[in-house]
Amino acid sequence: MSAVAEAVRPLEDFLVMSDEDVAESIVESKRELGDRVVILGHHYQRDDVVKHADLTGDSYQLSVMASKADAEYIVFCGVHFMAESANILGKDGQTVVLPDMGAGCSMADMASVEEVEDAWEQLEEIGVLEQRVAPITYMNSSAAIKAFCGRNDGVVCTSSNAIPLFDHYLKNFDKLFFFPDQHLGRNTGAKFGIPLDKMIVWDPHKELGGNTPEAVHDAKLILWRGHCSVHGRFKEWHADQVREEVPGVKVLVHPECPHEVVVKSDLDGSTSFIIKTVENSPSGSKWAIGTEVNLVNRLKTRFPDKDIRLLAPDLCMCATMFRIAPQNLAWALDNLAAGNVVNEIVVDAETRHYANVALGRMISLTENKN
Ligand code: SF4
Repeated sequence: MSAVAEAVRPLEDFLVMSDEDVAESIVESKRELGDRVVILGHHYQRDDVVKHADLTGDSYQLSVMASKADAEYIVFCGVHFMAESANILGKDGQTVVLPDMGAGCSMADMASVEEVEDAWEQLEEIGVLEQRVAPITYMNSSAAIKAFCGRNDGVVCTSSNAIPLFDHYLKNFDKLFFFPDQHLGRNTGAKFGIPLDKMIVWDPHKELGGNTPEAVHDAKLILWRGHCSVHGRFKEWHADQVREEVPGVKVLVHPECPHEVVVKSDLDGSTSFIIKTVENSPSGSKWAIGTEVNLVNRLKTRFPDKDIRLLAPDLCMCATMFRIAPQNLAWALDNLAAGNVVNEIVVDAETRHYANVALGRMISLTENKN
């Protein structure tokens, strides 16, 4: 007779534990599971979760780590689309677990595959697809949208490889359709000298995205009307104010911030770029950083010899990332150790295949450009 798993332990058991007991439970389950499990932690995760991660990174790094992991279980401390990507890139027989199914991404939710397909049909109807149009989706999107890109000669990008991928696609296509983050799209397009009036916004709730057929034909870049609610909170005046208050400060922001903020900054780049820039800066340097607060606070703790502050005075925290609490991680791991898989993320085979095409293109084009 095969071994029978123990009964699934409810999350409630972990919610009433002390913080110390929760941390101990995580350590104990990890010890029991050994190399059968790998815990991936995104940089925006809270400290009491990220300290248990075996590997940390931004969404691009984590997707590469997921593709190389050999463990039977990948426990993803991040948000839903990242766990989907881990399932897409992972090996057959690997199980991906998201410790809280409510950990989504408000930006990813701003584009559904039905809306994207409808927009594509509208482009076809007005003859735009007679040009070479490439759909590019930010990593922060559903597996179904990644698959759409895979089927239509498109690609997935992240904030760390948007520039090399735009470079490749702008050279090989007439027009790009970028979703769901208009800010990353616009900020990247501007780096290639595309004028703002050639970057139109597509509102999925309006006919032709709210544009005239002429404007759509004329555009170089069509930007989906989506944004990150965290990075959208940074404003131009934050940069003006901090420069006034802190002489010599450098403003360093993520390209999910609005274009006006990026224009006002000294430097912009992905989460990894932000970390490396601060790491490599001299002692005593001053940084006002426009990105998620958990990452900024961690940099502050790591570099007490540098003056590091959040660019905005109010809290810019990703509430959905915060949903992964140590209690959820303890619960997921305890059940895995007992032979029960909870909160498994599974992408259907066809979606997985085409999303893998788009993610595979991303990884190979990024590696070729480096
Ligand atoms: S920080 Fe913004 S883009 Fe990133 S997961 Fe949170 S809501 Fe989504």
